Amino acid sequence: MDDTHSFIKPSSSVTPAEDEVPPDQAKVSENDSEEPPSLSPTDTLTLTDDLSPEYFGGGLNISAEYRTKRQSRKTSCFNSRFRKQFYPDITRDQWNDWRWQLQNRLTTQQDVMRILTLSETEKAAFRYSAKALPFAVTPYYASLVNPMNPADPIRRTVIPDYRETLTGTGESCDPLGEDNSSPVPGLVHRYPDRVLFLVTNHCAAYCRYCTRSRIMDHAETHAASPSHWQAALDYIARHSEIRDVVLSGGDPLTMSDAMLEQLLGALRKIPHIEIIRIGTKAPVVLPQRITPQLVRMLKKYHPLYMSIHFTHPDELTPDVFRSCSMLADAGIPLGSQTVLLAGVNDEPDVMKRLMQGLLRFRVRPYYLYQCDPINGSEHFRTSIDKGLSIIRSLRGHTSGYAVPTYVIDAPGGGGKIPLLPQYALGYSGDTLVLSNYAGNTYSYYDHARSISNRHDTPPLLFESLAELETSVETGERRFPL
Ligand code: SF4
Repeated sequence: MDDTHSFIKPSSSVTPAEDEVPPDQAKVSENDSEEPPSLSPTDTLTLTDDLSPEYFGGGLNISAEYRTKRQSRKTSCFNSRFRKQFYPDITRDQWNDWRWQLQNRLTTQQDVMRILTLSETEKAAFRYSAKALPFAVTPYYASLVNPMNPADPIRRTVIPDYRETLTGTGESCDPLGEDNSSPVPGLVHRYPDRVLFLVTNHCAAYCRYCTRSRIMDHAETHAASPSHWQAALDYIARHSEIRDVVLSGGDPLTMSDAMLEQLLGALRKIPHIEIIRIGTKAPVVLPQRITPQLVRMLKKYHPLYMSIHFTHPDELTPDVFRSCSMLADAGIPLGSQTVLLAGVNDEPDVMKRLMQGLLRFRVRPYYLYQCDPINGSEHFRTSIDKGLSIIRSLRGHTSGYAVPTYVIDAPGGGGKIPLLPQYALGYSGDTLVLSNYAGNTYSYYDHARSISNRHDTPPLLFESLAELETSVETGERRFPL
């Protein structure tokens, strides 16, 4: 049996030691009043017995050798085995405490080498690349990385690459021109009715392609902390056209519940704010952050939406399933944001597994971004044609809900521009020629266009109900000329 499967199908004949109880068997108690450990051994969120490893994205992409080594163990939890191998003195409760995860992030080459075998080029990258964008990854997220394979998709997104030191054509540190649309520090006001509020400079793990790398851990040049919030809140309060606030950063869920609630409460006091959205990768890189206490607090500030940054189906673990379930159960609509990355998720099958998996996790695929031309990101960028072909491989081949909108965030501040494969091939007279998902062509007579080509305003077909009834009885269809 696959180790992931055994994680969700515990044998009733085996009573695991207290710290071996897998988190998916825990019960989420509404009465928990204390902060993490996010799941105590008695907490449960029950998963059904018939969920296969594929439910969680097809299992982790680990080498056969490594998988065999792991499978040979009798423990029931992937994370538990990782923890015992690399953090033998840490209890399950500590591991499931999001603050422990944050405090014990891997932040140096030496930290990483305890867990992964770094290639020579990766070692070189630590010397040079990690200066521009800080390096950090949670122990949990590190547990998903293939320790032996530098080409492992998750590994490529978080381990520095020497190519980050090379600036490609069209790249810059602020390709979206956000700093030019910032009326007060930490606020970007580009669209008429909504603002982006950069509330922190910190993330639980740093993505090597991050659009906001210029602000990460650079508080001296980019203010994003509670001491700067008031100016942004005052601006929002003065601008009654703002109805939608996106909290981002950095990752707002790296802040404490109290700080987050202070911010949400202040925003909810502004009468014209209709919706609040939180952009985060915490449910993916730090799923322990989603605690009963957090969701109970968030529920007070509806309508509240969450955009979660997902990258690869290997991220769809039981822990992430639990975090998304808790958020969805709290009535928070979940959408995904994914960056299209060469060698990571730019294969149709990988993207389909991710998008289908997200729907099972109750996350609606929302945006697929062309990778922004941030300095040193060329090695991550695919061609637009590749992105379009991935969308074509999804549309019609799977549920429409599983198809995200593919967008380019226009350099210089033009905003998100959707890109669609060409399904409308053109008009032949008033007939539109279409190509369907399978590449077959079909004709659609565009009656309204035909009419409007001959009349400025569409005339009434019938002048009375009697005329209509006569027409129905005789089967006569009348089109004005
Ligand atoms: S989670 Fe988002 S903000 Fe944080 S490093 Fe990744 S891309 Fe940047």
